[in-house]
Parts: sequence; structure tokens; C-alpha cells
Amino acid sequence: MGGSHKRILVTGGAGFLGTQLCTRLVEAGHDVICVDNFFTSQKSNVAHLLSMPNFELLRHDVTHPLWLEVDEIYNLACPAAPGHYQYNPIKTMKTSVLGAINMLGMAKRCRAKILQASTSEVYGDPEVHPQPESYRGSVNPIGTRACYDEGKRAAETLFMDYWRSNKVNIRIIRIFNTYGPGMHPYDGRVVSNFIQQAITGQDITIFGDGSQTRSFCYRDDLVEGMIRMMEGPDEFVGPVNLGNPGEFTIKELAELVIEQTGAKSKLINKPLPSDDPKQRKPDITLAKKWLNWEPTVPLRQGLGKTIEWFRSIDMRRYRPPTPNY
Ligand code: NAD
Ligand code: UDP
Repeated sequence: MGGSHKRILVTGGAGFLGTQLCTRLVEAGHDVICVDNFFTSQKSNVAHLLSMPNFELLRHDVTHPLWLEVDEIYNLACPAAPGHYQYNPIKTMKTSVLGAINMLGMAKRCRAKILQASTSEVYGDPEVHPQPESYRGSVNPIGTRACYDEGKRAAETLFMDYWRSNKVNIRIIRIFNTYGPGMHPYDGRVVSNFIQQAITGQDITIFGDGSQTRSFCYRDDLVEGMIRMMEGPDEFVGPVNLGNPGEFTIKELAELVIEQTGAKSKLINKPLPSDDPKQRKPDITLAKKWLNWEPTVPLRQGLGKTIEWFRSIDMRRYRPPTPNY
């Protein structure tokens, strides 16, 4: 990544994507401040950075104001897995909305550039397939996913209004399902569940009939796209889709995990959660055009690395979300 040395804040920096982002930015020589309340992460995720003179870790909850001097802000703080964001849905909405307001306020005061980690969930259960950024989505505003989907939609609104009204230099990325080493093993997401189940000899839980589709992007591809968007031209603020257009049914994913782990697990069906999107696949025309970005790691290869990582971790280091969050 070229450019000069910058002071960069990463909120949610100890999480799955945040850890990889902080690592990249520290390696590039920037002064990185990682802010996290460790709801879905832990200090040990960034242990490899703690001794670096250009890395600082701050335990803080973004729903409260924060006063720092920075040049760039990556706003990632928010639980991302359905089980995590539904644990305390009101807090999830506060994190998206108050977190965005606090970080946008900081960006305005410091004249910092700020990137919002938004989501494909803004498209809800989409009737348009694949999803381009111009599609306005089909979100159930009163359902169990709404705390996350509507929180992220409101955050996008705030970002656009700070840009239009206050000339804050913003970027919005819409991240599609991303996986890889460093995922929270208790996050309940499909990739982590299937791998955990396969390598521990349990049955693989398919919600519904497994015909619903998702597009899975490898972590490193996604973080590359995120950095390119932050460093991209000011006239392109987004939103831009970042994801891998390869589309798989959940049943196909289960079969691939069984094949790659050599597991003897059976596939069993469980009820489909409410409002579970039937299909999802990014249209990445804009990312290709403006960022010259597209994913490079196919699912088979990325799954291999992720399975290897899951086999290597000590599960005693991880815990489900804390009840006094
Ligand atoms: P993650 O849960 O691993 O990371 C989120 C981080 O934010 C965690 O470290 C958590 O402790 C922290 N956090 C949560 N609430 C906070 C608060 N109030 N104050 C401070 N820190 C808080 O999730 P992730 O997969 O790394 O996702 C990062 C971002 O990307 C999120 O905003 C998520 O919505 C977005 N995203 C991720 C995906 C994906 O597939 N991973 C898809 C779409 C969008
Ligand atoms: N899913 C599944 N079994 C699991 C976990 C998830 O079949 O053990 C399904 C889930 O119903 C959804 C898809 O896998 O259709 C992706 O779920 P995930 O929670 O990873 O992310 P989402 O894209 O729904 O936010």
C-alpha cells in the first residue's frame, strides 16, 4: 500500500476482520490504534501486535464518545454473526447507530477519512440477483435480523448525510459473507459451524433444506478490498460491494467441508431461522472498475487454510459472548 505514514483508528480492531486489517496496517508502518470492547473478540487476537511500537490497544465501547487525533478511521465495531448480534439486539442497534455518530463526529473534527463496514444484509432477502449497489433491498424492519440490518442501513444514512452536509470524506463498503482463519469458533456462522462439526466428528447442521445460497469471500481478499477502498479516489465514496461472486448452496458447502476434512459426519436438517435470505451473490462491477479489485482465493483453497487453522487452535482460549455485555 503506498502513501505516507498515517495515524489510523480501527474500531472493532480485535475482531475477525479487524485483526487482519490492523496487522496489515501495522506492517505497512502506520500508527494504528485498535479500539474494541471485546464483546466478540479477545485481547489475545492481537497479541502478536502488542509489542509493536506503532500499535496501541484501547478497551472502549464505541457507543460512548471518544476523543482521539487520527487521519483515517475504519469503523468495524459491531457483532457480525447472527447469534452474536441477536444476543442483545438493542445493543447491536446502538453500536451501529451511536458508534457511527461518535466516529463520524471524530472524523469531522479531525478532518479524517472514515470507512464504514456495512453489509450485504442491507439487501435483506433480495428479489434481485445478483445484488448490485443500486438495489434498495428487501429488509423486514421488525424481524429478528432487523437490529443488525436496519442498524447498518441507518449507519449508511448517517455516513451519506455527514458527507453531503458536512463534507466528511467517507467510504462505504458492503461486505458479503467472509470467512478464514481467525473466525470466532463460537460465532455460529455456517463456515465455522460446519468445520467445527466436521473436525470433531459431529453431524453437520443444515438449516432448512440447504438450497439457500451464499457467496463466500476469503478474509485476505476482503481486507485487500477494504484498504483499496479507503485509499481509492475521493469521488468514489461507495457504497461498493466487496465479496466473492462464486455462489454455493449451503448443502454444497457442507459436502465440500466433508470432502476436505475427510469427516464421516452426516448431514442433518434443522429449522430455518426466520428471515434467512434465500440467495446472496454480489455484483462486483463497481469494485472492479474503481478499485481494480476482485477476489483471488477460490472457496476450495480458502476452506483448506481455514480448516488447517481450526485444527490448530486451543478451544479453551475461546468463549461464547459474555452475559454481562
Ligand atoms: P467480529 O464480531 O469478529 O468483529 C467485530 C468486533 O467489534 C469485535 O472485536 C467486537 O468485540 C467489537 N465490538 C462489538 N461491539 C462493539 C462496541 N460497542 N464497541 C467496541 N467494539 C465493539 O466481526 P467481523 O466478522 O470481524 O466483522 C467486522 C465488521 O464487518 C462488522 O462491522 C461487520 O458487521 C462487518 N461485516 C462482516 C461480515 C463477515 O462476513 N465477516 C459480513 C458483513 C459485514
Ligand atoms: N446455516 C446452516 N447451518 C449452520 C449455520 C448456518 O445451514 O450451522 C445457514 C444459515 O441458515 C444461512 C447460511 O447458512 O442460510 C449462512 O448463515 P450465516 O449465519 O453464516 O450467515 P448469514 O449469511 O445468514 O448472515
